[in-house]
Formats: sequence, C-alpha cells, structure tokens
Amino acid sequence: MAANRGRTKPERLFATAIWRAGRRFFTSEGYAKLSGRKLMGSPDLVFPAPKVLVFVDGCFWHGCPRCQKSPPSMSNFWIEKISTNVLRDRRVRASLRRSGWRVIRVWEHELGSSRAVDASVRRVLRTIDARLNGEKC
Ligand SMILES: [Zn+2]
Repeated sequence: MAANRGRTKPERLFATAIWRAGRRFFTSEGYAKLSGRKLMGSPDLVFPAPKVLVFVDGCFWHGCPRCQKSPPSMSNFWIEKISTNVLRDRRVRASLRRSGWRVIRVWEHELGSSRAVDASVRRVLRTIDARLNGEKC
C-alpha cells in the first residue's frame, strides 16, 4: 500500500490489524487533506468520528518504561535524546487532549505476537466504541 510507505514495521502491523478488524481510519496526512487541519505529532491512526488518535510508538525511541534499558548502560547522548522525545510526546498529547481527542498509545512491545496484537486492537476498538456510544472515557 502506497500510504504505508515510510511507516515502521509496528505501525504497519497495527494498521493492518485494525483494517482487518473492519475499522477504517485516516493517516495524519489523509486527515489533513480532508479537514485542512494538521494534527500535532502526526498520529499513526486517526478516527475522526469518535475523536480517537492512536500512536504506535517504538519502545527505544519513545522511552518505554517497561523495555528501557537501565540508564547506566546507555550513553548520555541517548539518554538525552530519548528524554527529549518523551517530553515532546507528553506536550503533544496534552495539547491533543485539550482539543478533545482521546489519545491512545500502543507500544511496540504490545505487538510482539499475534495474540498481543489482537489484545491491542481490542483495547483500541473498546475505546472507539465507547466514544461512539457517548460514554466518557
Ligand atoms: Zn516497551
């Protein structure tokens, strides 16, 4: 799929699984074209009706607390680089939430097996359905 070019493997994997589950979504680029609004941080999946955004994040680059190596084994360069990413992620998501979006993060480690992928898909679909049903979540 041309739209998938430039995406990382976990992003592609998750987008494909959502597609297979029968849910349609926009990429950030597609949403920007449709709405004329550019979303901060370029979320991977955009569900405009329930106002749900999904970020599929690599554990290393985004400083996953579960997978992160203990800082002493990392050079200062990487520690600094990753903490910059973590702070930026936090700012971006806080701003999106203020605009009424529900922001869901799917970690790379949550896509480690097909069973894990299914569980992550269900988690996202539950949130989407709850929002569509007008529940606050
Ligand atoms: Zn992780």
